[in-house]
Amino acid sequence: ASPSPTVIIIGAGMSGILAAKTLHDSGIQDILILEANSKIGGRIHSVQFRGHTVELGANWVIGGGPRSNHLYEIAGKLNLKTYLSDYGNISANIYKQEGGLYPKQVVSAALEVAETRDQFCTSFSARLSASGHNHDDVSILVSQRLFKEVPTTPLDMVIDYFYNDYEDAEPPRVTSLKNTIPRYEFLDFGDQTYFLADSRGFESILIYIAKQFLSHKHEVIRDQRLKLNKVVREINYSKNGVQVKTEDGSMYQAKYVIVSVSVGVLQSDLIVFKPHLPQWKTQAIYEFDMAVYTKIFLKFPSKFWPSGPETEFFLYAHEKRGYYPIWQHLETELPGSNILFVTVTDEEAKRIEQQPDIKIQEEIMDVLKKMFGNDIPEPEEILVPRWWSNRFFKGSFSNWPIGYSQRRHMQLKEPVGRIYFCGEHTYSRYLGYADAAYFAGSFPLSCKHTQTNT
Ligand code: FAD
Repeated sequence: ASPSPTVIIIGAGMSGILAAKTLHDSGIQDILILEANSKIGGRIHSVQFRGHTVELGANWVIGGGPRSNHLYEIAGKLNLKTYLSDYGNISANIYKQEGGLYPKQVVSAALEVAETRDQFCTSFSARLSASGHNHDDVSILVSQRLFKEVPTTPLDMVIDYFYNDYEDAEPPRVTSLKNTIPRYEFLDFGDQTYFLADSRGFESILIYIAKQFLSHKHEVIRDQRLKLNKVVREINYSKNGVQVKTEDGSMYQAKYVIVSVSVGVLQSDLIVFKPHLPQWKTQAIYEFDMAVYTKIFLKFPSKFWPSGPETEFFLYAHEKRGYYPIWQHLETELPGSNILFVTVTDEEAKRIEQQPDIKIQEEIMDVLKKMFGNDIPEPEEILVPRWWSNRFFKGSFSNWPIGYSQRRHMQLKEPVGRIYFCGEHTYSRYLGYADAAYFAGSFPLSCKHTQTNT
């Protein structure tokens, strides 16, 4: 790399790698990518767990719809093993707080109400959008109130959680209706979600993209333009250029910088901007939401849950909304692995990750015993990702809160002088998804900026 690249890219997740590739493909090859972690991927993070590859971050790819999905296509090209997630039989798989399954007819009736409510919310959102008033928005909860059926029982709440929190990682009270519904990722790419479970990991999609423009040996990227373990702490900018300082005392200069870190990181004090970012920019950053979505993996010596077709997902209904609610076994994807995982979000995810693993395991075992009886084995191992406390992420993905305007979101992605911003939070259509990061990185320098145009 030249001592002074044209562009420094901060972060080597999906959006940073895409931004670098887009620049490279358009002839700007003197770039430098600075990544805090010891590997690329960011929130696409595959790890080994008791001899199996599991995904701490992105897991599902969406495909089969009217618009082709690049990530789904790459997964196909690489022959990665993906499995269609079948949620069709949830009605037979919801457990009561104190144990035992809800009767199928009871759940089917509750699901029907939830489906009608969801349709109401979708059409109400369309009506709000058609009204043409930007400020005309409500939370998902308000639109549920308008429908007159707000979930209050453990069963209705866990079903509502499945419809909303499981997508947004925040409750309907917080989430903007107009900016999250309809869910464009499904409208565009198809309503089929494929769970990626391959020994090469979801990461191999990103490595495939990176290999197209960075030097590599087999699956390892070895290019002087990618520097790992470089934690950026300071960005100095002026109309002449930028200067980036890292925690290890290195300093890099360039004409421009692209910041691809999460909005959660931008809200923290990890990176200091000198001069401070203007008020409109900090407000746009601080008013947006970084949600928390955590998958906790457990490896057991033997299987004690139902397996076979239509058992993959099961729900636990508790009076406390979001208490270890959504469970998935991996008998189809990783047969014989005896691995279960449970998904928690928002305040519960934050509460849980602050506890030691052993305490979390105790809570989980209490829940599992309620569902499957006391005669179940202890897990051999538990794996708890801590996305919220990790200073390089501060959460899992962004969510659009009620009260946040379209104008604010334009400001969120708008450059400040020579500093450009990408990252999934800047691409509203598929907000939160790896697809958003993909597209956010595909137009790295395309935002109009008002202060410098050189
Ligand atoms: P990141 O991946 O966060 O990349 C930013 C990079 O910047 C990181 O590598 C980080 O280490 C680095 N960085 C941070 N601070 C600094 C610093 N100071 N200096 C240098 N580098 C820094 N999406 C889907 O499509 N499907 C899913 O099923 C799905 N499930 C998910 C489940 C979880 C638990 C999580 C966490 C995410 C999930 N996502 C899913 C979302 C998807 O993973 C993200 O939207 C996407 O990976 C974000 O990419 P990004 O490049 O915007 O950000």
